[in-house]
Amino acid sequence: MVFNVPATLMRFQRTRALVVLVLCLVTWAGAAEKITDLRSTVILVSLDGFRPDYVGSGTPHLDSLIARGVHAKWMIPSFPTKTFPNHYTIVTGLYPAHHGIIANSFWDPTFQAKFSPGDREEVTNARWWGGEPIWVTAEKQGVRTAPVFWPGSEAPIEDVRPSYYEAFDDKRPDDVRVEKLLSLLDLPASERPRFLTLYMSDTDHAGHDFGPGTPEMRAAVEKVDTAIGQLLSGLKARGIEDQVNIIIVSDHGMAATSRKRVVVLDDYLDLKTVNVSDWGPVVSVRARDGNNAAVMAKLAHLAHAQAYLAADIPARWHYSDSPRIQPILLVANDGWLIESRDYMDKHPKFVRGGNHGYDNDDKSMRATFIAAGPAFASHATMAPFSNVHLYSLMAYLLNLRPVETDGSINVFKDVLVKQGDRVSPHPERAPWRKERDQDASRRLPVIGQAYAGY
Ligand SMILES: [Zn+2]
Ligand SMILES: [Zn+2]
Repeated sequence: MVFNVPATLMRFQRTRALVVLVLCLVTWAGAAEKITDLRSTVILVSLDGFRPDYVGSGTPHLDSLIARGVHAKWMIPSFPTKTFPNHYTIVTGLYPAHHGIIANSFWDPTFQAKFSPGDREEVTNARWWGGEPIWVTAEKQGVRTAPVFWPGSEAPIEDVRPSYYEAFDDKRPDDVRVEKLLSLLDLPASERPRFLTLYMSDTDHAGHDFGPGTPEMRAAVEKVDTAIGQLLSGLKARGIEDQVNIIIVSDHGMAATSRKRVVVLDDYLDLKTVNVSDWGPVVSVRARDGNNAAVMAKLAHLAHAQAYLAADIPARWHYSDSPRIQPILLVANDGWLIESRDYMDKHPKFVRGGNHGYDNDDKSMRATFIAAGPAFASHATMAPFSNVHLYSLMAYLLNLRPVETDGSINVFKDVLVKQGDRVSPHPERAPWRKERDQDASRRLPVIGQAYAGY
């Protein structure tokens, strides 16, 4: 009994603290100052590993955006269907081989150095990042940007830094990420960014740990949808919910994996004779003695995966002409993994979960595209399109003169509406067209620049 008193008191205090916190949040959200001088603004949201078939059950906020905006049946990710290559394709409009981030982890023969997402020194080094991300195009034309937590945002690409960026911290809760974005919109017009990003990784983590179609994935989907709801109500509190163009994408999908679907590479090769990078769905291999033909011969009977010499990689992947691509590429069949015996021995508990990186034509790898705002038609559905076109879309929405890319605005022409003094996105009447034609130097392909030095 004696001990129950403080326990009850503590519970009461905790409840009271919670009530006060909720009241504060409600008051604070309601008290957000109206923004009356907003210029064309794009919020690009990445839901890592969010498959298009996750939408529609437990996703009321994404459903509301679809109802008032544009929704693609799916977006086609670039190959390999990995996080870093695709995030950087989305903002540069270039295929991975053209922007240089050809995998999550890879080797550069010129630098004699390895890039990996966890290596802060390399991630923040501009030498890896080719092409021109949309925030660099914007900053060069006087538009402030805040690509917070976006791959590439921490490097001074072309010696240009975004106005606002932060060191990646995957432990930061989603609600804090949303509040951070909203606080940037609260800045005075002269300091306010017009291109902002929001990144959430819950669905990717749930996908790797448990797989798609699991209760844990359902919980992750509901969690990110709640954060989208928080973003939408934050915009509403500022009176700008109908003035901002919101683009919600994912970088790739997710396939269920299993210990029963593993190709053990040691069964084919003596791993001491090769260098291997990026294990799993897609694997790069190089013979240590340079005899890659001999390695290919050993892989002739490889099951549940395809082996390609670099020169024979399917053209539809646009995965060629980069010195960072290793001589041999192994791509597992959907849901299969390529691992070493050593890895399997060290991970005896690996039974199931999910992964990505596979052929970008695989259904499980499909990505999400939802967009809503003053520039977009409502209730519009788009046929599937490649994520190389998003740079062109964002440049159009921000009225920027784009650089040449692998993409084009054309795929969006039927879902964009005329807004105020903005002209049609049709290329023959696009706002930047005339200017660019007069300035032939701007027509130098960025792809060429991306190759330089690689
Ligand atoms: Zn990802
Ligand atoms: Zn992932």
